[in-house]
Amino acid sequence: MPAILKREFNIDKIIQETSRTKTFVLSPVDKLPFNFISGQWVNLSLIPTQENPIVASRPYSIASSPANNSSIQITFNIVGSFTNQLDKMQVNEKVMVMGPFGHFKFIESEIKNAVFIAGGIGITPMMSMARYSNDKQLSLPITFLYSNKSIESVAFFSELNELAKSNKHMDMVFTLTSSDSLPENWNGETGRINKQMIEKYVKDVSQSTYFICGPIKMTQEIATLLKEELNVQSECIKVEGWG
Ligand SMILES: Cc1cc2nc3c(=O)[nH]c(=O)nc-3n(C[C@H](O)[C@H](O)[C@H](O)COP(=O)(O)OP(=O)(O)OC[C@H]3O[C@@H](n4cnc5c(N)ncnc54)[C@H](O)[C@@H]3O)c2cc1C
Repeated sequence: MPAILKREFNIDKIIQETSRTKTFVLSPVDKLPFNFISGQWVNLSLIPTQENPIVASRPYSIASSPANNSSIQITFNIVGSFTNQLDKMQVNEKVMVMGPFGHFKFIESEIKNAVFIAGGIGITPMMSMARYSNDKQLSLPITFLYSNKSIESVAFFSELNELAKSNKHMDMVFTLTSSDSLPENWNGETGRINKQMIEKYVKDVSQSTYFICGPIKMTQEIATLLKEELNVQSECIKVEGWG
């Protein structure tokens, strides 16, 4: 296995996804390809300076499709010390990227039906999977359940609708959990992802492979529900825990 190096990446573009969510489009300064599998993550750190020789780093799932290996996208919520530093960065500034890492991998040849279950910013690895499936025109059936508190916090709303239109094998289901702020004419689901919602949308519950990412409590509850109430085998449940 080749050694995993820390490489310098340029911030090519910054996209404001929601009021508290941003995407960085990053490309390697050495212009060499960056290969990864959908679902994997990188460790991102700032460039040390004389004033700040010790810099923090954090893991981020790659949100872009591996069909493009000349740049990657990471999408983050601005919530704390590191992401507040990222929020201040500008196009053409540099970061260090190490990776790819992780076993939360989307390998199409190993899957019969895929179910993506994302909560909030936990969408990022599945965004890569959905983009990749579209780029490669995979005929793999995908049911994508994406839960957010309110419409304001839904990242990639338009793009996901477009992906679902162009990929006839992907069914997209949005659910909003806060009933006080439902948009007018909302035709998605409401409430948390539960047994009834899974049974309503997933065609072959026990023969599907589940990718779950979001708040730790949500991922644990859904994994338990799948195993204990819907008879899904543990090896068909992949969870990315960020907690
Ligand atoms: C494999 C993996 C992949 C990941 N991928 C992503 C991704 O794609 N996108 C993403 O956004 N994150 C991702 N994360 C999480 C990410 O690594 C960081 O933990 C996240 O960005 C928060 O970092 P931070 O330093 O800004 O927040 P921290 O300062 O570490 O704060 C973390 C939490 O503590 C709370 N907090 C901070 N300060 C205070 C305070 N003073 N009082 C009360 N609460 C406080 C914040 O609200 C926040 O919820 C991933 C994590 C893992 C392990």
